Amino acid sequence: MELLGIKVGNGLGLGKCLFVDTKLPNINQEIATNLNEEITKVNEAIVKAIKDYEEIIASLTDEDLKSLTEFNKNVLISPSIKKDIENIINDKKCFGDLAIDIYFNNKIKQLENLDNNYLKERAKDVKDIRHKVLSKYYNIVEFNPDNLNEDVILVSHEMTANVLLTDNLKYIKGVVSELGGKTSHIGILTTSLGIPSVFGIDIKNLKANELIFIDGNKGIVETDLNENRLIQIKEKIASELELEKELEDIKEARTLDNYLFEVSANTGDLTELERISDIPLDGIGLFRTEFLYLNKTTPPNEDYLFEVYKSFASKLNGKQMIIRTLDIGGDKKCPYIDIGEETNPFLGYRAIRYCLDHQEFFKTSLKAILRASAFGNIAIMYPMISSIEEIRQANLILEEAKQELENNKINFNKNIKVGVMVEIPAIAAMADMVIEEVDFFSIGTNDLVQYSTAVDRGNPKISKLYEWFNPGVIRLIKNTIDATKKYEHKFVGMCGEMAADPLGIILLVGLGLDEFSVNINTVKKVKKYISLLNKKETEEFVKSLLNLKTVKEIEGRLSKFAEEKYGKFY
Ligand code: PEP
Ligand code: MG
Repeated sequence: MELLGIKVGNGLGLGKCLFVDTKLPNINQEIATNLNEEITKVNEAIVKAIKDYEEIIASLTDEDLKSLTEFNKNVLISPSIKKDIENIINDKKCFGDLAIDIYFNNKIKQLENLDNNYLKERAKDVKDIRHKVLSKYYNIVEFNPDNLNEDVILVSHEMTANVLLTDNLKYIKGVVSELGGKTSHIGILTTSLGIPSVFGIDIKNLKANELIFIDGNKGIVETDLNENRLIQIKEKIASELELEKELEDIKEARTLDNYLFEVSANTGDLTELERISDIPLDGIGLFRTEFLYLNKTTPPNEDYLFEVYKSFASKLNGKQMIIRTLDIGGDKKCPYIDIGEETNPFLGYRAIRYCLDHQEFFKTSLKAILRASAFGNIAIMYPMISSIEEIRQANLILEEAKQELENNKINFNKNIKVGVMVEIPAIAAMADMVIEEVDFFSIGTNDLVQYSTAVDRGNPKISKLYEWFNPGVIRLIKNTIDATKKYEHKFVGMCGEMAADPLGIILLVGLGLDEFSVNINTVKKVKKYISLLNKKETEEFVKSLLNLKTVKEIEGRLSKFAEEKYGKFY
């Protein structure tokens, strides 16, 4: 059986299904009678948790995991923690678990509201500490990764990072969780540790101890593996390892006939800042600013935004960083941005639509970007543009922002490039007119597919209909790319997931896309795939696809071409 979920951590893994149930009982909300007993139970839970962390620290060699565990331990040995929880128990006459919950929730909120990125990120660690102390309070025997001695895929309703605090990672071949997304703490950790992970899987479909296969590249978990399938999977894993080795030295995306393509990264995640210099990326093709606005109780101020943009731009040594203005709304909500109730939030009051109605708020965000443009090669991109009027209105506010900075003698790049996301079909259809107004396009297929095929991108019931090889979608993409070709200094990129799809890459190289912007972990892989193609030959091949009428035919032909060109890497 093939279960489709959310792709989180790349790579392939095969192992026994191991449930690590980290689900905790419901917090007891009743009045407690024996408060001293509760205080003792809490103190014991804290001592046990500290002991666990000490044992983990002693066994770890990975410095990052070690410092993460040390942070966790230090939170628990702080002198005030026991007293503070004791006070909560006495004040509220509550059970220890509620007091632990209240104590840590306050800490989490305080950290999340700080303007210090490092501490903000720590809020996620405090959630894991809360989980550990509560497990000790309930006397739940936690899964201990140190005891593993065979390959496993860890499965949980809601995975926590505690399960990965081990030196024994070699046995962890994958992580499957029902809850959590790409940007959850555990998601980020599995990605940075290189562990394949797929979330959003209904774990009722999995059986303990059954050998299962996880494909983090496609977001698939496979069960009921027969012998033939197992042979195929093992071959796939071996090729993937070979590909990983070849990727170590990859620098550029140069085709066999010597055409150079740009491969940039999509980011916005502060934890990725340090990795920018380690990856051979050609720039940032999409900086998702909304990450800086979410999980806050008040809007981030101009100085904070400026510092973040500047820190990323400075790491790029002159390579381009495209900053997308706030793409809020849809499924991304902030407590301080009142979008109101909507029947169709994805078709609603979001992104540029909200910003154009809140000009001062928008202007602040633009000023932060402009100020950072004095420190790097920054471009501005407007999301969810559906008309030329919107571009013009946004540009008027941009001009005001520039004027204000000039009045205050603040430096910025006066010729900053301005582009739009092409993610609404109307814009793709009139791309030849839109390009006259902007410096570049970035095709957002994540939304373009959803809007042009009327398939909600987050609805698992219809995910089979979500197809970027739909001939109608391909025509919109082609129209968008073609529109830019008249202009020598304008360019067209793609920042939707299609740009990282091995088959999508063939189509896009053939259609003449200039820039691929993908998850930071897939930059090298995309470069490798591009470098296995001959541009001229791919263009000819893609021409032959343009009149095919079904996804099946198009995908079938692309797959055959991929087998020929990518060989064992496909
Ligand atoms: C897109 O729509 O393709 C895109 C890259 O933006 P997001 O996924 O943030 O909507
Ligand atoms: Mg989008």
